Amino acid sequence: VVPDPQAGAAVKAADRAHVFHSWSAQGLIDPLAVAGAEGSYFWDYDGNRYLDFTSGLVYTNIGYQHPKVVAAIQEQAAKLTTFAPAFAVDVRSEAARLIAERTPGDLNKIFFTNGGAEAVENAVRMARLHTGRHKVLSAFRSYHGATSTAINLTGDPRRWASDTGSAGVVRFWAPFLYRSAFYAETEQQECERALAHLEDTIAFEGPGTVAAIILETVPGTAGIMTPPPGYLTGVREICDKYGIVFVLDEVMAGFGRTGAWFAAEHFDVVPDLMTFAKGVNSGYVPLGGVAISEEIAATFETRPYPGGLTYSGHPLACAAAVATIRVMEDEQVVQHAARIGETVLGPGLRELAERHPSVGEVRGMGVFWALDLVKNKETREPLVPYNAAGEANAPMAAFGAAAKKNGLWPFVNMNRTHAVPACNVSEDEVKEGLAALDAALTVADEHTV
Ligand code: PLP
Repeated sequence: VVPDPQAGAAVKAADRAHVFHSWSAQGLIDPLAVAGAEGSYFWDYDGNRYLDFTSGLVYTNIGYQHPKVVAAIQEQAAKLTTFAPAFAVDVRSEAARLIAERTPGDLNKIFFTNGGAEAVENAVRMARLHTGRHKVLSAFRSYHGATSTAINLTGDPRRWASDTGSAGVVRFWAPFLYRSAFYAETEQQECERALAHLEDTIAFEGPGTVAAIILETVPGTAGIMTPPPGYLTGVREICDKYGIVFVLDEVMAGFGRTGAWFAAEHFDVVPDLMTFAKGVNSGYVPLGGVAISEEIAATFETRPYPGGLTYSGHPLACAAAVATIRVMEDEQVVQHAARIGETVLGPGLRELAERHPSVGEVRGMGVFWALDLVKNKETREPLVPYNAAGEANAPMAAFGAAAKKNGLWPFVNMNRTHAVPACNVSEDEVKEGLAALDAALTVADEHTV
């Protein structure tokens, strides 16, 4: 690729003049102008190439520009670019069939949305109508999207500015042994105490008022905390006991990320509703949805479902999903993600943790890993305070800058970096990423005490 700094400058100038960016103070950002991307890499107009250890926003599970998916989108565009959601359309039917075949248990009906937040909004709507109750319980360490109910269900500080009280949202602590809210010392204690806390929360809120509990199967942006054995099946039992709808949010964890089609498979749990987006078609065209159990689908068999979206099941997005799922099957992408996590990425990250004083904990599975960076391994004090900005966040900023200097685009959130490459990342690419992380962690080490 021939560098073209002038073209890059023009892209940047128009961006700064007219693009209003998410989650940002518009005058304080400096977005990189991207010239192209392929597989696990993207590059700018100045000739710099980056290994993407973020998969965009953890969604390009088959990497950038997979030729078979690009071709499928082109073919669909030539055949039937769009058609309204009330009609039966071949690619929409096929995408729903392929997704339903892979979702756990009896989640056999698919309501399509354009992304994850809309999936969460609709899952909550379904749960409320199905139960006739209004409260929804979610975990503090969570992210569920940026629309009204989804952002209120979210635990992280991005909620605060929109925290005007979405009616009925109640938050609780889910298990996380490394920073236990329950003074637990073992996974088993953490699991038991977290389940007791959840059941207490329900008792005090009034079981007859709780429509749903929503959890990310493996919480993503909040820190990739794999739940302890027995936790999710315990939540399932609590839901059954009180007639509460169990919603698993697999927007980030789904479609191969954990080395399974859905993370729920690892924990032998079947929710009543499951939200998905991102990896369903690697985000080549916006798509998300809710997979619905037979029982909840039956609620809307003769009673209309009061919800919809103009672009629900958009043919271009569905064609991309059909092609993506076929590519993932043909190229054994899910199996590859499991194997590379177990044999290369996980062991490599653990090896870094042994050598670097700034790495407090390594956790994850598949291509879904977090390094919890600390000032001190004994005290586990985070390398930067919760929600740090400016000078207080300087150690993480320095870590991120060092990674980029070494050709690695890192996922950085608070005191963590996540290693979340494409599910089909090669062994050599993982090794390249580990070497760049190694160098960047040396910078983080300078801030340990
Ligand atoms: N749920 C989870 C678990 C997510 O990680 C995200 C996005 O990162 C969302 C929901 C929201 O998805 P979207 O940004 O497509 O609305």
